[in-house]
Amino acid sequence: MENLDKLTRAGLFSRNVPRYTSYPTAPQFHDGISSDHFESWVKALSYGSKVSIYMHVPFCERLCWFCACRTQGVKSLSPVEGYLEVLKVEIAKLAATIPEGVTIARMHWGGGSPTILQPEHIDSIMQDLRKLAPIDDDWEFSVEIDPAAVNEEKLDALARNGMNRASIGVQDFDERVQKAIGREQSYETTKWIVDALRERGVNSINLDIVYGLPFQTRDSLGKTVEQVISLAPDRIALFGYAHVPWMAKRQKMIPEDALAAPMERFNLFNQAYDALENAGYVPLGIDHFAKPGDSLAIAKAEGRLRRNFQGYTDDVCTALIGLGASSISRFPQGYVQNRATTNAYTAEINAGKFAAARGIAMTLDDQIRSRAIETLMCDFIVDLPALKVEFGDFAEGIRPDLEKIAAEFPDFVTWEDDRLTLLPEGFHLTRIVATGLDAYHTTAAKHSQAI
Ligand code: SF4
Repeated sequence: MENLDKLTRAGLFSRNVPRYTSYPTAPQFHDGISSDHFESWVKALSYGSKVSIYMHVPFCERLCWFCACRTQGVKSLSPVEGYLEVLKVEIAKLAATIPEGVTIARMHWGGGSPTILQPEHIDSIMQDLRKLAPIDDDWEFSVEIDPAAVNEEKLDALARNGMNRASIGVQDFDERVQKAIGREQSYETTKWIVDALRERGVNSINLDIVYGLPFQTRDSLGKTVEQVISLAPDRIALFGYAHVPWMAKRQKMIPEDALAAPMERFNLFNQAYDALENAGYVPLGIDHFAKPGDSLAIAKAEGRLRRNFQGYTDDVCTALIGLGASSISRFPQGYVQNRATTNAYTAEINAGKFAAARGIAMTLDDQIRSRAIETLMCDFIVDLPALKVEFGDFAEGIRPDLEKIAAEFPDFVTWEDDRLTLLPEGFHLTRIVATGLDAYHTTAAKHSQAI
């Protein structure tokens, strides 16, 4: 109870803070970053560099009301096919720009629903993607699977094109919760897909659970967690529902009076966290779990866990190149985001350009803070001597912020030997503590709840 009072005073139940899947965070992107930056940063990739490719498919057969992804509902395939033609032009232009000696180590298809693509679309776009750059033998190809938009033939097509990882959104199996978020998906359907993926050799399966959804109770979420565990996924993500109707208009369909208060979100999270840990899953960072033998759990044990737009990863590629509307690329020099709407994206690509609209070039200070926030989010530590090995004495620039954090959160962190360590009691405050290292953070920016 005493710790709860301290967490309350630290703002856990009242503050809105970034998720820090990038630093600087997306609200800092500006239109001073253009396609010229994107092109020059691609050309600067050195011989031997490995890249990750992210392809965004911004279409869904259904629009779930809780979802804040950039996507649009479609009733026919014609807009999807039109978009694929534009993607192919973007891929060809990128293929002509990527330097010799760069290879693809990772590919991720997200959205929206990439599984809205038909088997012939999947074969055709992969044929083009394979021309981008040589693909590493041990590459990882992951796809977000929408249970409402998948069948045996699509899974066959993805498997024959190399998919070896898959992610499925469960959110909650409770019928009342599902109706309230506009997403009905039975346990049986999910199990069928998990089994069908495993039959096709996809041995790494991630399931997403969301807490804080309308009408969710500890009982209903507890049952969902049990059902998810029974499917034995290799990885599980436990995300908090982010109610941001000012950004995602369809969330206006969510009955706000049925949403859990911050204290109940805290209870829901803790209960699910304990159940997953008791079932043998290794907690990773603030909201992911993996079986002990999974590559992410091994990366955590070896201090190689990283954070990116998909959450936690062991991806160490030099760059992440985003394809499609609204996708974000990350280069050592900074971030670039493509035009957000499919129309604006299409216009740029059809005009023979890349489609960058905004982004940010990273200063050395940004790079140091980015790495410090990442180690805090992954390992709950900011190790100033290690940062100095990586960045030299410039890393000293964040010392005043580390000391300030130590003074502000004496019950939750230790500051010894120039290392800031988050104590287990401070686990829930990870994102709040990270704001102390964020040179751009202001409370005016609209972010999601800290819990
Ligand atoms: S949850 Fe998935 S299927 Fe539903 S709207 Fe969002 S991206 Fe589309």
